[in-house]
Amino acid sequence: MSVTYAAEGRHAPARHSRLVVLAGPTAVGKGTVAAAVRTEHPEVWISVSATTRAPRPGEVDGVHYHFVSEEEFDRLVAEDQLLEWACVHGAARYGTPRGPVEQALAAGRPAMLEIDLQGARQVRESMPEALFVFLKPPSWDELVRRLVGRGTETEAERERRLATARGELAAESEFDVTIVNTEVHDAVEELVKLMKFGSES
Ligand code: 5GP
Repeated sequence: MSVTYAAEGRHAPARHSRLVVLAGPTAVGKGTVAAAVRTEHPEVWISVSATTRAPRPGEVDGVHYHFVSEEEFDRLVAEDQLLEWACVHGAARYGTPRGPVEQALAAGRPAMLEIDLQGARQVRESMPEALFVFLKPPSWDELVRRLVGRGTETEAERERRLATARGELAAESEFDVTIVNTEVHDAVEELVKLMKFGSES
């Protein structure tokens, strides 16, 4: 069993929320889990974030992210169009467009945000009814292995991300539920079960 519930969670374990906020340390596999949810569970609506970082090879504008300029991001912030936003790894800004989340929830769809810890804390302020899920690596060594294995970052960026990850791991207790990401498929199924049936499942 790879799911644990916070002993002193903000909510009693028996609850149900259509909005799941998935966070966890860098390189734990949040993006991989979200991508697998997207293909295996198309009934789940997944937010597409805006970001000021450049696309990686294979990333498609409007699918993986909305790639925007610094000026465009400033405008989104100024017009209060973001549910939350954060500067991640001191490198680029990322934010969740507010309108699409509200529309998905209004339509009754199970919805998911895959965001960093700073963003999750902001959503907890504005949408405390959401279910906050912490995705955790099986071990620190495995987290380092995944970060190095990705091979898309420079040495300096990797160091910065590991430093961020150390702090992020300590935040587990702020979350309602922890899922250990040993096997992506298992993590996806646990996550979707939580979305559909709540944390009493
Ligand atoms: P990457 O650049 O590797 O795609 O993502 C870097 C980090 O940004 C990941 O930890 C991811 O969860 C986070 N992130 C992606 N979208 C958002 C967002 O909309 N808001 C916040 N706060 N973080 C995000």
